[in-house]
Amino acid sequence: MNMAFPGTKASPKKPSKPDMKRYSPEIEYLTGRFKASRHASFRKVKFEYTGGSTQYLLKEAADSFEKMAEEAKKDKITLFIVSGFRSFNRQKRIWEDKYLGVTLVENKNLRETYPNHPEKRIALILKYSSIPGTSRHHWGTDLDINSVSPSYFNSGEGKKIHEWLEKNASRYGFFQPYTPGRSKGYETEPWHWSYKKISKSLLKKYLSNVTKDHIKGFEGDSFLPDSFLEDYVKGINHD
Ligand SMILES: [Zn+2]
Repeated sequence: MNMAFPGTKASPKKPSKPDMKRYSPEIEYLTGRFKASRHASFRKVKFEYTGGSTQYLLKEAADSFEKMAEEAKKDKITLFIVSGFRSFNRQKRIWEDKYLGVTLVENKNLRETYPNHPEKRIALILKYSSIPGTSRHHWGTDLDINSVSPSYFNSGEGKKIHEWLEKNASRYGFFQPYTPGRSKGYETEPWHWSYKKISKSLLKKYLSNVTKDHIKGFEGDSFLPDSFLEDYVKGINHD
């Protein structure tokens, strides 16, 4: 992990220091500025349902996911979470690695390909990745199941799993925010599911309380498109 120390200037290649700005408790929750491991409403998902990785969710969402994964076994379907809760700082690292060319996006080093066009880098990152502070993964209600590769879900095992989820997940309270056919926001994400009972009200709170002033503290934050909250937070499947 890259560390920036007080008094040193972060090199432009390395992600800058963690965001430490303080906001109201509600804004900090909605924008992921907290540790799930220290939050009383969160718990770790059992390792047998995460492929061994450490994943936190709100307790109710974790209970529901585990119940669903247990039931799925009876149909020979294996479900596991590859990504549950993500903090602002985790999302900031993902974002900055892409923005600064540490992680390739569509096989390109964005920093080298578009050195003077931050808005182009941002548009490419936004196909699948969220701006820090705007991810539904900050809420503890949203999770990625089995894989985050679009091709995995197009055939074979992945297709079977997605069909099972489309048929059954709603009985456990989950819905898909990033379906095909939306006019705004991220590309289709067949892996991303959301615990609707709670995330629906969190979205409402988010849209009425979070403003652009709360979405700061990372590389590229002054070049964000004007309509990012409207397009990427609101631009989900509202069924
Ligand atoms: Zn996701």
